[in-house]
Amino acid sequence: MISTKYIFVTGGVASSLGKGIIAASLASLLKARGYSVTNQKLDPYINIDPGTLNPYEHGECYVTEDGAETDLDLGHYERFTNVRTSQANNVTTGRIYQSVIDKERRGDFLGGTVQVIPHITNEIKDRIKLLGNSGQYDFVITEIGGTVGDIESYPFIETVRQMKWALGNDCVVLHLTYIPFLSAAGELKTKPTQHSVHALMQQGVQPDIIICRTEHPLSRNVRDKIALFCNVESDCVIEDSDVSSIYEVPLRMHQEKLDTQVLRKLDVPAKNEIDLSQWESFLYKLKHPNSEITIGLVGKYVELQDAYKSITESFIHAGAALQCKVHVKSIHSETITDDNLDEKLSGLNGILVAPGFGNRGIEGKILAVKYARENNIPFLGICLGMQCAVVEFARDVLGYADAHSVEIAPATKHPVIDIMEEQKNIAKMGGTMRLGAYPCKLEKNSKIFQIYGKELISERHRHRYEFNNKYLEQFQKAGMKAVGINPDNNLVEIVEIPSHPFFIGVQFHPEYKSTVLNPHPLFLAFVKAASMPVNK
Ligand code: GLN
Repeated sequence: MISTKYIFVTGGVASSLGKGIIAASLASLLKARGYSVTNQKLDPYINIDPGTLNPYEHGECYVTEDGAETDLDLGHYERFTNVRTSQANNVTTGRIYQSVIDKERRGDFLGGTVQVIPHITNEIKDRIKLLGNSGQYDFVITEIGGTVGDIESYPFIETVRQMKWALGNDCVVLHLTYIPFLSAAGELKTKPTQHSVHALMQQGVQPDIIICRTEHPLSRNVRDKIALFCNVESDCVIEDSDVSSIYEVPLRMHQEKLDTQVLRKLDVPAKNEIDLSQWESFLYKLKHPNSEITIGLVGKYVELQDAYKSITESFIHAGAALQCKVHVKSIHSETITDDNLDEKLSGLNGILVAPGFGNRGIEGKILAVKYARENNIPFLGICLGMQCAVVEFARDVLGYADAHSVEIAPATKHPVIDIMEEQKNIAKMGGTMRLGAYPCKLEKNSKIFQIYGKELISERHRHRYEFNNKYLEQFQKAGMKAVGINPDNNLVEIVEIPSHPFFIGVQFHPEYKSTVLNPHPLFLAFVKAASMPVNK
């Protein structure tokens, strides 16, 4: 094992250039060379975590095994590297300040003035080193959220400056920028990159490697120019051109020698010949499908690319494994009504009702469940989607017309989805749901058992409400079976309708565990089922 090396990824010129994908790609390359790697994200906003952020603000909230509600980049890290992340892998300004202020109140700094430097920067440093000092990783790759020059990211960049100074050769900084193409001039322009590197240098940080997001190839000339103006070697100007799948980025970065340059800069001897055969085979299958299907994703944030990121990525993983192109058609649940079901939902090979919170669009989700159930269309309900399936069954099969979840209708006479006992007295919203991995025991005589191929599974949760066991017997008798139960507290985690070709609702989020190299069994089974002809 080498001494831990620290790699920082900053961004300039524009947001959304894909720092997370670059950080994840580099991690996957180092891992493919036999090193142990972890990815971390530092977010400059003041929320303690993104759990209370609406997807319009920040895309999906990703949940780790230990129940941390985190930035969606952690999902990329896990999907690219197969390395589990945890609370320690995502730190926000809010969390840093909260911890420093708690220490101040405790009297840890008695007599001293508490300041951004050193108290806040030390706290940030501790959070970065916590991963390095765990002794588990050769490389800690820390992505700094936001764009260089933002007021909010100053303390993070200052921490990078201090760490780079202290660590010398054990630290490199990668700066991701954007090279716009001016079509009137027919040229790629490097000036914004020069300015963003200057902004970084004003804060005392000289990047070692500049990664240039571009829609056109970088000529030698452009690379040399960036090198000259930004004090980096020409070989350390890396082209990051647009690709058709994010999963091509590791291969592109390898072709551009990003991993080689990073190892050279860190003085780490290249350990193994890199083995990218699994990635290549994944990409081959992804690009050579021999069938295609369309899944309707019914949710209320469907206009947002990132709101259901882990779900759409899980379909890519499962689809590639089965060489089936999965088109995910977003269907806004607010637009679904009794009168337009056929128009909205016919012709789909499968219907997934998405996770979510609150009342908006709920009746459309319930109608989509009904349509899938009555027309034998493969159905997967995730979290709120499972709860909608339970409500629909209670209304249309058990005959309880007013059945609902108490989240939506607190006074319903038939609360088939109820608040968990331990949630009743919780007043704070942040970080208080049932979060993270819980065990689940599967009923042997079920589809879900065939899918997982084992009796005891563990999946990640993020919810406050649950199946109301008072109704369990009635559901079972009427044909909706509870086929996955939490062995510790008897909560129903999975329901299934055995008389339907594929109708499964899960209270947990399988999508958080699907990775490129380990597609999730439930998504595989759903895609397979959706590939069968529908028998109406
Ligand atoms: N709103 C529901 C609950 O809290 C479902 C949550 C979800 O879909 N993640 O139980």
